[in-house]
Amino acid sequence: MNHENSKKLYELALQFIPGGVNSPVRAFKGVGGNPLFFKGGDGAYLIDSDNNRYVDYVGAWGPLILGHRHASVIAALQKQLEQGLGYGASTEAEIEIARKICELVPSLEQVRLVTSGTEATMSAIRLARGFTRRDLVVKFEGCYHGHVDGLLVKAGSGALTLGEPDSLGVPKAYTDLTHVLDFNDSDGVRRFFEQHGKDVACVIVEPVAGNMNCVPPVPGFLETLREVCTESGAVLIFDEVMTGFRVALGGAQEKFGVTPDLTTLGKVIGGALPVGAFGGRREIMDCIAPNGAVYQAGTLSGSPLAVAAGLAMLEEITRPGFYDELGNKATILMTGLKERARAAGIPFTTNQVGGMFGCFFSDEEEISQFSQVTACNIPRFQNYFHQMLDNGVYLAPSAYEAGFVSSAHGDTEINHTLDAAEKAFAAIAKL
Ligand SMILES: *Cc1c(COP(=O)(O)O)cnc(C)c1O
Repeated sequence: MNHENSKKLYELALQFIPGGVNSPVRAFKGVGGNPLFFKGGDGAYLIDSDNNRYVDYVGAWGPLILGHRHASVIAALQKQLEQGLGYGASTEAEIEIARKICELVPSLEQVRLVTSGTEATMSAIRLARGFTRRDLVVKFEGCYHGHVDGLLVKAGSGALTLGEPDSLGVPKAYTDLTHVLDFNDSDGVRRFFEQHGKDVACVIVEPVAGNMNCVPPVPGFLETLREVCTESGAVLIFDEVMTGFRVALGGAQEKFGVTPDLTTLGKVIGGALPVGAFGGRREIMDCIAPNGAVYQAGTLSGSPLAVAAGLAMLEEITRPGFYDELGNKATILMTGLKERARAAGIPFTTNQVGGMFGCFFSDEEEISQFSQVTACNIPRFQNYFHQMLDNGVYLAPSAYEAGFVSSAHGDTEINHTLDAAEKAFAAIAKL
């Protein structure tokens, strides 16, 4: 496969853009080699600047649940383009999307739109602190909540890929207020809360961890978080920026039946336009300006284009059977991958929640801990990534990212992927 144009573009990009990329994981540091540059998307496919086509399992890191350029999203955007790009004031469509989000995710009584997932988590944490008048934040190792200063502690994918668990430039005083516990360790959470519960403003968690590959919650873990937060008066925040409208229509909270106080959203709700959101109990949301004293604002918040794309997206994903179909596709894909790995004698396992999945080069049957993820055979993944790429399949260029199927992925794409994997596993077995 020829990557000449991508290579030239990367060299040029390195001159004007730090590291040649506008977000670090794009740089292929996690897999080696030069990053690809893309010029188009078409349903389940990405097209790079050398005109190579790939079945896409990144989906713009989650938003493209309908695949690239879905007709109804494009039509909604075209309609809005004719009416204006932004007014810096309120629109009827914002009410419509807020009402829809609140209907679909019942723990949200009110919701505010922002422009990224990072902004959503940053605002939710400020709100939780303002509401409780406490300072401590609890997060979990390997969970990523955007590049919020105080949350860049053991923060999963991007930082993990670069081998930097924490970031320079974040004052120690900020992260002193962040306590990191082990994901899926209910006992550890209880022990921490027995001692410090009364000082905790909030617990923030990815209810299905998607930034340390894909790790679902073990039974009882989310329930424990709910319990200790209720007992101690801390705010439980589900960061559903990735899982929202992805693992189920009502997100992970619907799937696992645990209700948070606040929820952050992003990715899918914007259909790849810049949108995030946070919402929850009215009593808490009432603390935000202009009603309350917790300040939060945004020039581009509720961008008419993003809202139009989001509304069109929500219309599509609320069709009956949408999530069953999406989940079935991912199951067929995961089952097929495991069969082919076994046939080649490669230790390999997978996790899957709805249309979100993770693949692990590991001897272990079940992956539920961060330490199991980091113990996987990373060189093997890197080899697999490049073999898949050469066979026309684009995976996330990091062993610490979840993968996604879209409604545009059909039998043809899945079979193509399984054929590519068969070749890749066979090549790896010979190494
Ligand atoms: C992607 C992601 C974020 C950050 O969203 P951005 O739009 O990249 O700022 C936050 N939380 C989770 C769980 C994410 O997956």
